[in-house]
Amino acid sequence: MTLWIVKDESRIHDKNTSLILGVYDAYDEATRTIFWDPYAGLILGDGVSVMSASLCLAHEMGHAAQHLDGVIVNGAKYTKKQILEIEESNLRMYEIPIAKELGEFARRNYGDASGWYKMANPIQWGVLHTVRPAWHYLNPFNWGKPSKYFENLNPNNGVKIRPNPSF
Ligand SMILES: [Zn+2]
Repeated sequence: MTLWIVKDESRIHDKNTSLILGVYDAYDEATRTIFWDPYAGLILGDGVSVMSASLCLAHEMGHAAQHLDGVIVNGAKYTKKQILEIEESNLRMYEIPIAKELGEFARRNYGDASGWYKMANPIQWGVLHTVRPAWHYLNPFNWGKPSKYFENLNPNNGVKIRPNPSF
């Protein structure tokens, strides 16, 4: 089978094309297409932990695997409860085990998310810090700067990957 991975936000927002619909990322079973924003990190329910965009891609690939296994069927109409079951199964089988292997934060359940954060690259994950406004904004140099900043916790970020010596 062929699996397409594309970044096309106009299609992501077309609710008729996809069963499993996210704001930035989605899997469309009719066209076997994953929509992925490589810079969209997922802020978890605590409002602090941010999951990497790569793990979000792993989640959508989990849906593609569910499609191959017949868990997701083309053209089927699912209830909200059934969609939630599909999502929770995806978390149990794919997203959470992959997150644990990589040492990333894992969602406790599908609803354990509170927003998106624009990342510098697809592999960063980490925590959001809130700057205390009192001293931050007394300094005019900070005016207009964001009150939140991201701390990357991926130890492999920025490490150059050595080319295979046999090439
Ligand atoms: Zn999903």
